[in-house]
Amino acid sequence: MTRYASILETVGRTPVVRINKLAPAHVKLWVKIEAFNPLGSVKDRLALGVIEAAEASGELKPGQTVIEATSGNTGIGLAMVCAAKGYPLVIVMAESFSIERRRLMRFLGAKVILTPAPLKATGMIEKTQELAAKHGWFMTRQFENPANPDMHERTTAREIIDDFEGENLDYWVTGYGTGGTLQGVARVLAKESPKTKIVVCEPETAQLLGSHQAQTRKPDGSPAAGHPAWTPHPMQGWTPDFIPLLTEEAVDMQAIDQILAIPGPDAIRCSQDLAKSEGIFVGITSGATFAGALKVAADAPAGANILCMLPDTGERYLSTPLFADVPAEMTDDEQAIFRSTPIGVPTA
Ligand code: PMP
Repeated sequence: MTRYASILETVGRTPVVRINKLAPAHVKLWVKIEAFNPLGSVKDRLALGVIEAAEASGELKPGQTVIEATSGNTGIGLAMVCAAKGYPLVIVMAESFSIERRRLMRFLGAKVILTPAPLKATGMIEKTQELAAKHGWFMTRQFENPANPDMHERTTAREIIDDFEGENLDYWVTGYGTGGTLQGVARVLAKESPKTKIVVCEPETAQLLGSHQAQTRKPDGSPAAGHPAWTPHPMQGWTPDFIPLLTEEAVDMQAIDQILAIPGPDAIRCSQDLAKSEGIFVGITSGATFAGALKVAADAPAGANILCMLPDTGERYLSTPLFADVPAEMTDDEQAIFRSTPIGVPTA
């Protein structure tokens, strides 16, 4: 299908691409590139899923304002969906997240409310709850809303099953932000591809699952306090300072075979390597997941099929450490090329 009734029909059906240079020769390493979604991330799926579920249940009324706490990609996806469907949108985000994310959401017509960085993810969520209660707005509640994993069960998981039909998928490697991708895909793999090992990556400096320390919650499932194992990490969109309910539910399903801790510098290097060696331009959590997939590959048996999720585009990180070493001015090498012919070169 190449003609669509609206942009919303282009969400999902992202490509699975073979890694040719960065993978060890004894395995088949594949990546699922969520940057192919219309607004460049896996969160376009969640945005469409939660809004359509709320429309269907009657929870979201025509013209009602939608509000969400998000580090960016969910807000950008929601901004697209709300623009296309005609809902006003308010996004609450911590001021520490990258500037281009805020500007993107405002470009798509959303209002962006910034919370002070020291309040972290839990503070951002409490502000959202306060605003929703005061103004009667619809909260999409990405961290607890079952419509989030349901959408991944219906789309992401089905695509994966179809793409490996007739072959064994030996490992599926992912991270978690809300845990929507993890839970939705794990539900289907557990039933239809039970031999697939599910590997979950988290930041080395925020091993919330790895710590096996419980998360305290309010009755609605949102966090009651930050998790003690959390410290800052560069993987924007991964592992907030609490274990989301949807992630905990995935743990309780006992579908996770392995948890890997990924150092921040490995994540950044893998993202840069994917761009330079494979032409695959993705963000920091993609690099982090890929770092995990390379660890899996190193120990995997010959011929194993490994699928690694790549959640978003690298274009979202121009003002972050991902681009810290990329100069804006000509380097010495580039100056030498410039000076190798006469045009534009001053004749002293
Ligand atoms: N990577 C990035 C860049 C994200 O924005 C998100 C979502 N917050 C994820 C990974 C994780 O996806 P999920 O919420 O489905 O766990």
